Amino acid sequence: MAKTKPGKKDLDSYTIKGTNKIVRPGDCVLMRPSDSDKPPYVARVEKIEADNRNNVKVRVRWYYRPEESIGGRRQFHGAKELFLSDHYDVQSAHTIEGKCTVHSFKNYTKLENVGAEDYFCRFEYKAATGGFTPDRVAVYCKCEMPYNPDDLMVQCEGCKDWFHPSCMGMTIEQAKKLDHFLCSDCSSDDDAKRSLNTFPLSPPVELKIWSHFLTLFSRQWVTRNSRTFLNKELYKREAIGKIERTLV
Ligand SMILES: [Zn+2]
Ligand SMILES: [Zn+2]
Repeated sequence: MAKTKPGKKDLDSYTIKGTNKIVRPGDCVLMRPSDSDKPPYVARVEKIEADNRNNVKVRVRWYYRPEESIGGRRQFHGAKELFLSDHYDVQSAHTIEGKCTVHSFKNYTKLENVGAEDYFCRFEYKAATGGFTPDRVAVYCKCEMPYNPDDLMVQCEGCKDWFHPSCMGMTIEQAKKLDHFLCSDCSSDDDAKRSLNTFPLSPPVELKIWSHFLTLFSRQWVTRNSRTFLNKELYKREAIGKIERTLV
């Protein structure tokens, strides 16, 4: 980390204006966008600094919302999903309007209640290239998509894979009433398996990787790219990569 410049001093904490909420380095915060129609920006505070006139600045690492990423929001992105970007900034601490929690994906799926300040992050995002880390995640169901924690899925008692009710021709209400569920593949050869008294499992779900998804992803990217002349705004955003944050 850079040395503190003369006249500046590092602070351990900052109290959000008009509140008693204390922000410390490492905390996640909501920052007020200049366009009040937009949702707040989410950032992780890396450093808090005051100059000799006591103006407090925060060095932040931005989270991106799926719609701000090159690939855009996809079906499997959760409503509270964020990507930890490699985009850093220095902003006035006055633009901080509140604190929030960015959970790991696993912890988020275990929350009993998701509050307004709860978000989750499972990918890091390189703003300039649009690359994600990890670039492979487990996929589920016939549609071979990563898990969206906002969507109900049902587990097959045969292959143990998880399925979207809609992909199995069911409504959510029908799925909620199920006591037992076998996917179409398992129910068709269920009798054969029973008579052999074995319990064959598909390869562990973690091994079903994202290659299929990546193909879809790049195909969409190509399509979008060839259409960018229709949408100058989109073209500009994709060319720049980083989304500038304008704060009040
Ligand atoms: Zn599906
Ligand atoms: Zn099955």
